[in-house]
Amino acid sequence: MKRALYIPFDQLHRKYGVLKDANAAEDVVVLVESQSMIRGADWHPERLFFLISSARHFAQSLRDEGFEVRYIKADNTVAGLKIIKNEFSGIEFFAAEQSSFRLTRSLTEFGVQFIENDFFLTPRALFASWASSQKSYLMENFYRKQRTRLDILMEHGAPIGGQWNYDKENRLPPPKNYTWPPYLEHHRDEIDHEVAAELSMQPTTTWATTRDGALAQLRNFIENHFGKFGPYEDAMALDNWALHHSLLSPYINNGLLHPSEVIHAAVAAFNRGDVPIESAEGFIRQIIGWREYINGMYWYLGEDYRDNNALGAHRDLLPLFSDPTKTSMNCMKTIVTDIKKRSWVHHIPRLMVLSNLALITGTNPQQFLDWMRREFIDAADWVMVPNVIGMGVHADAGQMMSKPYAAGGAYISRMSGYCKGCAYNPKLRVGDDACPFTTLYWDFLDRHKETFVKNHRMSQQVNGLKRLSDLDELKHRAQEVLSGLEKGEI
Ligand SMILES: Cc1cc2nc3c(=O)[nH]c(=O)nc-3n(C[C@H](O)[C@H](O)[C@H](O)COP(=O)(O)OP(=O)(O)OC[C@H]3O[C@@H](n4cnc5c(N)ncnc54)[C@H](O)[C@@H]3O)c2cc1C
Ligand code: SF4
Repeated sequence: MKRALYIPFDQLHRKYGVLKDANAAEDVVVLVESQSMIRGADWHPERLFFLISSARHFAQSLRDEGFEVRYIKADNTVAGLKIIKNEFSGIEFFAAEQSSFRLTRSLTEFGVQFIENDFFLTPRALFASWASSQKSYLMENFYRKQRTRLDILMEHGAPIGGQWNYDKENRLPPPKNYTWPPYLEHHRDEIDHEVAAELSMQPTTTWATTRDGALAQLRNFIENHFGKFGPYEDAMALDNWALHHSLLSPYINNGLLHPSEVIHAAVAAFNRGDVPIESAEGFIRQIIGWREYINGMYWYLGEDYRDNNALGAHRDLLPLFSDPTKTSMNCMKTIVTDIKKRSWVHHIPRLMVLSNLALITGTNPQQFLDWMRREFIDAADWVMVPNVIGMGVHADAGQMMSKPYAAGGAYISRMSGYCKGCAYNPKLRVGDDACPFTTLYWDFLDRHKETFVKNHRMSQQVNGLKRLSDLDELKHRAQEVLSGLEKGEI
């Protein structure tokens, strides 16, 4: 019996998922470009271009290998599969488990048979058994289990170097007078031009849309950036938008690279003595720790988790998120402008600037989540929902993170060059020149002091409120800042 193998746009790998045991002589491979997905939101054009062009390149590579491939443009995924069902009578549909609750449901209803999703290093059931045995879901505990289970950076049952985690060595501000390696550029081919023309957009040369391009990005990271990844991991520089970050998340998330390929290259470089332990450990933790933990938590916490709003945050998304001319805050203006350009900024601007602002202004978590989901090249439900709802805006009452990542301007000033060119002063919390982050940080703590004073990791910060002699003035300034942000005048 002929089989239809359904490949979603985030499983573009020949050796994993349902393609690993595919038979070019018998199977038909199906990809569906869902028009309702494309039209369903105001997606960042670079993101749409990347996802669609990567899928069309992948379909072409399978045809070149001799597969019968149907790349269907249909109203939605199920409508596309119905076309195949009508064409081949009695055909059976197979796929690897999908990466979202929504697609899992619609494909199950259609009758697709699933094999395990092996695009991650941790089966969902294994993660659930770890999570259900924990009092709190501390990522560090999960990560240590992963190191041991996968036998990565281990020696005689202990972590290589004697420590599990080298983060203390990895918190440097951006370096001065530093020469960053050049950016890797990806040149566009006929398929890229065709997709760009259909989307009426002009892609940058930032993102590859082929497996070869993704492998080139991996090599570029290992050879030119990996050694310095750790120390500047948290820094935000004015003279470089990527620092030593790998820029690999889009490819690991759409399947052009498998996480085990990235880990293999990283461990090999460490074993050759090319990179110090703090960079090797820091990067490997992101992949076998954070990425796996986030995916595990998405499935473990369930579909309703995305609707959490434990801090009762109801403010509409501020205009500066969609239009950087609506603010004089140099950090926000620069970061949102960067996102407009390339659909990407690294972890710290996502967490300590964008999410921090949404958190301390009391912005509605779901509106902020939807914005992040539309804007980022590497976004998907499984990764955005826990990162935003749990880590970014603490909307889950601390199920994932024991404390919120709220910070004033002092943190941004220490870790970036933004404040020097800003209309505001990170040291001030009251007055017209006060940094909005600094004012709103204290206002946030004051608004939620009853909740956070019970949290031993937050009580010191909350008790700091008692030392503020100008709290009334600060609360007044916070109202001015909030209404100015709403009008796009701060
Ligand atoms: C609010 C918020 C939203 C985020 N949204 C996304 C998202 O939609 N998609 C996404 O892939 N990452 C997301 N992240 C995690 C992280 O910011 C990005 O993975 C990273 O910036 C991608 O750039 P890079 O490949 O250069 O990463 P590097 O800094 O080089 O890190 C290496 C890899 O580690 C993995 N990783 C590290 N942290 C995480 C994490 N928290 N969750 C998942 N993977 C992680 C990624 O695969 C990344 O490629 C988010 C983080 C926050 C705080
Ligand atoms: S002073 Fe405040 S608003 Fe301005 S760049 Fe620094 S942190 Fe951002």
